[in-house]
Amino acid sequence: MVEKIAVIGAGLMGASTAYHLASLAKQTGQEIDITVYEASPDATARGGSVGASRITRLNTRDVPAVCLDMIQHSNEQALAWGCVRPAHAITIGNWKEKLDPAREVAKAQNVRHSVLDSQDIADKYPYFNSKGFLAVDEEAMTASGDGAGVIDPSKLIATQLKLAREAGAKVHFGTKIQSVAEDANGVTLTLPDGKNEHFDRVVSAAGVWTSKLLAGQHAATDNVITGVDPVFLYQVPEEQKASMQDFPSVMLKVKGGDEFARQHPEFVAQHPEFAKKEAYLQIYMMTEYGGPDGKDLFLKIGWCPPMEKAPNDPDQLIAKASVTQKDQCFISNIMKAFMPGVAQKLPSLQAAKADQVIFGPYGCAPDYTPIISPLHADSRITVVAADAGTSGKFSIATGKYAASYALGHPELIPENVRHVFSIDREMGKATMPEQAALGQTQAAACGGKIR
Ligand SMILES: Cc1cc2nc3c(=O)[nH]c(=O)nc-3n(C[C@H](O)[C@H](O)[C@H](O)COP(=O)(O)OP(=O)(O)OC[C@H]3O[C@@H](n4cnc5c(N)ncnc54)[C@H](O)[C@@H]3O)c2cc1C
Repeated sequence: MVEKIAVIGAGLMGASTAYHLASLAKQTGQEIDITVYEASPDATARGGSVGASRITRLNTRDVPAVCLDMIQHSNEQALAWGCVRPAHAITIGNWKEKLDPAREVAKAQNVRHSVLDSQDIADKYPYFNSKGFLAVDEEAMTASGDGAGVIDPSKLIATQLKLAREAGAKVHFGTKIQSVAEDANGVTLTLPDGKNEHFDRVVSAAGVWTSKLLAGQHAATDNVITGVDPVFLYQVPEEQKASMQDFPSVMLKVKGGDEFARQHPEFVAQHPEFAKKEAYLQIYMMTEYGGPDGKDLFLKIGWCPPMEKAPNDPDQLIAKASVTQKDQCFISNIMKAFMPGVAQKLPSLQAAKADQVIFGPYGCAPDYTPIISPLHADSRITVVAADAGTSGKFSIATGKYAASYALGHPELIPENVRHVFSIDREMGKATMPEQAALGQTQAAACGGKIR
């Protein structure tokens, strides 16, 4: 019998699920009929997968061990599809909290890396004001040359949907699912025209809209996946890209608060909101690994202004999103303070105008780990809910697990992966290191690498 399976949402997670559904069904010999529904007219018109850039790097912050293998697998596949550009990565921070853990990960994953002092930074990357960097986050840096790069979400989504379509999947854009109802025989979806369509199994990959779509169906989806912040991505105009060389992927995470205010009184005098603890900024810069002309440089600046209360409704947030002159001015001053060389070379930023600003809602579970899980034991609905800042990296691999559930084959998923991403895990209670340790132990128990 042909099983009818629907995927709701065609962001990075939904597209990957559709692709893996098609390839796993071929492997297992199952006959399936796949339909993807996407509310927007275009897969990256809104939602978490908007914009041209997702940073991927292996020496990432403490994530469960299973995620590192997933990142590596995703990178390899995205590279093979031409959807990721390798880049250097620099991690900045103090030894105890950031560099030692990053170095451990780099060693464990065989990532080439080296430690840079401020003189190395000044010599290698003269565009940065290394004093500015180092003053922010203490005194050391480490760099890695492998396992890092920039993912192009639009291309990655398009590639996976194309492969799914070639295997027979139907993809409907501009089709917002109104409701999801499960009964003993399967799952009924209500389409925008009010008609019902019945499926044997459904994958919900609706990003931050998960809470709306599955309202009342599980405490985790009701109350957990609610954080939504605006993030501004500034991309350098095409004509300015050619002028820069040897840019690594840098993540500068500047936290607000007293320490920063003490170190940068002039800056804070101009931008008092930055002294608030909850404000933070991320700057990413990257170019093709070893690229001779720096053509691919772009600058991604994520600036989350402190908000009294972030609206939990993504539609409301997206409707309200705007960049004020104050935001533009803030970014320009950040450039001048931390990257004087860059500010000089990128007049559009110096003049406080961004080429393109993209708003992407951030959503996450409190332990910053995605959910990939049946909604309830024996449920025919699989929930895929990404983590705000890191799930671009995991997306290809996570699709495989979502597809395994949707095909009724949870046994294809290693037990530790099932546990780490379970909707019924004690979110917020298990800390990252605890989860990572669990991942390691269970990975060893099931024979090493998890793929
Ligand atoms: C600005 C920004 C920067 C980021 N940077 C990085 C990074 O550097 N590295 C990294 O690894 N990760 C990063 N992330 C995280 C990562 O990009 C996201 O976690 C990931 O893209 C989320 O994908 P998704 O498919 O779960 O959600 P989405 O992309 O939001 O997809 C959900 C889709 O479901 C659709 N939908 C919702 N409701 C319905 C419905 N009722 N019917 C039909 N369709 C529906 C939506 O329209 C949407 O297209 C970033 C995220 C943002 C926002």
